[in-house]
Amino acid sequence: MKGITHIILTMATMLVVLAPLTPSLFTLESIPAVLILILGAFFGSLAPDIDKGKEAAIYHSEIPGARGRKFHLTPVFGYALYYTCYKPLQFLFRIILGKKIYAINGHRELPHSPIGILLISILVTVYLWLICLALSFVPYLSPLYNNSLIFVFGSGFLLGCFLHLLEDTCDNSGIHYFYPFCFSRLRGKVKGDGTDPRPKIFAVVLLIAAFILGVLFISGLIPAIWSYPTTLMVPIVLWVIFLKASGVPARKEVRE
Ligand SMILES: [Zn+2]
Repeated sequence: MKGITHIILTMATMLVVLAPLTPSLFTLESIPAVLILILGAFFGSLAPDIDKGKEAAIYHSEIPGARGRKFHLTPVFGYALYYTCYKPLQFLFRIILGKKIYAINGHRELPHSPIGILLISILVTVYLWLICLALSFVPYLSPLYNNSLIFVFGSGFLLGCFLHLLEDTCDNSGIHYFYPFCFSRLRGKVKGDGTDPRPKIFAVVLLIAAFILGVLFISGLIPAIWSYPTTLMVPIVLWVIFLKASGVPARKEVRE
């Protein structure tokens, strides 16, 4: 699936997650946390494609589909992720499990697996914690020490990566959820080249759901006590429907 599709679907899902919490989000403490969570999810939405080669969106500053607009942090983060997380973890997996860890067809190996995104997210959080620890010795930067926003970023990043796996599950290359112990993939029938209309339809459904939830919770038609269950349940239900609509589980096609 293309970088732009990942960004749109992940950001739209994040809106659905955040919509029920809208009434409590516009406080001085919440706004930085929401922005950091979204930034983490943005990087996470592109991160698993670090195993795709240098054409992956995470290595480029152009924001896909944004008409040449650039975000220079993306390649900085992408290359840092490649050399400090992906390559060391791949080396470790190679030592323990041997050559079978490499994808036989196409890309999608360690960073496209649940164990991979979990380990990468932990490493990202640890590195960030260490950088903030070092910076906290600089005058006026002491609040960076053990700052809770580091963990908000790590959680957003993991969530973004997980949504990337769900999105890739919809297409005909699929995801091996039990990598590196089992290489059979869970896949759908969506073509990953951007020609299939289904990801666009999913994005529209997500945006409509986010809007309706936002209105219902801001107006008080749904009491605030329901905000956390809704935050969890609506994205899960919608994604189960999207996976079904994508034909998951589909049979393997000859070409990958
Ligand atoms: Zn991918």
